[in-house]
Amino acid sequence: MLSIKRVPTVVSNYQKEEGGEAPEGGCGRNCLKSCCIQGARLPLYALKRVDKVAEKELPLLGCKEHCSVAFLDSLILGEWEERMQRGLFRYDVTACETKIIPGEYGFIAQLNEGRHLKKRPTEFRVDKVLQPFDETKFNFTKVGQEEVLFQLEASDNGEAQFSPNAPIDVENSPSFVAINVSPIEYGHVLLIPRIFECLPQRIDHASFLLALQMAVEAGNPYFRLGYNSLGAFATINHLHFQAYYLAMPFPIEKAPTKKITKLSDGVKVSKLLNYPVRGLVFEGGHTLESLANAVSEACICLQHNNVPYNVLISDCGRQIFLLPQCYAEKQALGEVSAELLETQVNPAVWEISGHMVLKRKKDYDEASEANAWRLLAEVSLSEERYEEVTALVLKAIASVDLSVKPQCAEEVDSVSSGTQPAMVAGSQQCLVLQ
Ligand SMILES: [Zn+2]
Repeated sequence: MLSIKRVPTVVSNYQKEEGGEAPEGGCGRNCLKSCCIQGARLPLYALKRVDKVAEKELPLLGCKEHCSVAFLDSLILGEWEERMQRGLFRYDVTACETKIIPGEYGFIAQLNEGRHLKKRPTEFRVDKVLQPFDETKFNFTKVGQEEVLFQLEASDNGEAQFSPNAPIDVENSPSFVAINVSPIEYGHVLLIPRIFECLPQRIDHASFLLALQMAVEAGNPYFRLGYNSLGAFATINHLHFQAYYLAMPFPIEKAPTKKITKLSDGVKVSKLLNYPVRGLVFEGGHTLESLANAVSEACICLQHNNVPYNVLISDCGRQIFLLPQCYAEKQALGEVSAELLETQVNPAVWEISGHMVLKRKKDYDEASEANAWRLLAEVSLSEERYEEVTALVLKAIASVDLSVKPQCAEEVDSVSSGTQPAMVAGSQQCLVLQ
């Protein structure tokens, strides 16, 4: 049944191996650093310009558009399958058992004994959402070139473009799509925006827009992108999103919502209802950028206020869930029950969305809606704190002109602090207790 190697969770085959032989012309690992990158080539996909997420009711897409949408989807899966043939993954995720937990919500349980058996050494503090990039820790410039599927950028002429063997323009900050060598599901990849800028794990406008564009252009409702902040079970402090395919609805996608407000740029913000984790849902907007800017501004607000959070991009980019969480904080305070701790489940974006990745056969066999709910209820902010955090977020996103897109991370910070003095002042008061 299981053909899983018992290894700690790593996202790259180079995460654990330091040192090693250095043959001529490189460090021997064919990595992405200056030792090996000279002259290297990788496929390059340029995303077409999308002004707005198509409404679901729109008639069938024209052939041209349809073909380019299918292309990104098949590029991801084709390249991913090829890496599986080459044996680059640490276990065969297609052999992991998955089942739908009986009940009203349709939580999905996966038994994945290969992923986290040993505890990963903590590489950064879990009580700080923003931490500087640390060159000495594992980061994605250390992965092998064979783990990178392709380069991703915005098209210069608005049309989708593909080049199977493009040079890597390090100076021009390409974004990469790479495999996660410890996959959770079929086609599990990492999107690493502007990889050579070595950005820490924090959302900025441009990076979030890129992730949203990728979801739109993949055009497959079973392809979701997710983000974990530091303190919300990100494991590497180098800016990255995750994505994979799972051909079933996530419980969070089926939860009812209640509209809170509509922003001037047409973005609708709602509250999740009848779901164990409290959160916000973003939809619509006059342009794709307005939707991206509303969400990223909300994320930047949470970052400034040191509130750990997870983001799920669903439904081909039409629906975005933002979930502040406090599980790690409760863990640190000794407020999580021994029973929950024993499962060693880290409630990151996938678990919060209802795809429970379980490490023990016992938990898989005994998986029930009540157990899933109990875990996720511990992840959620309390009603009181959720309302407090939501008020900060709504204030932040109402106070910026969402149609203005800052050009880089530095600018994002200056825009945020320039336009939201009240929020920045509040950020000195840590919401995460230490
Ligand atoms: Zn190298």
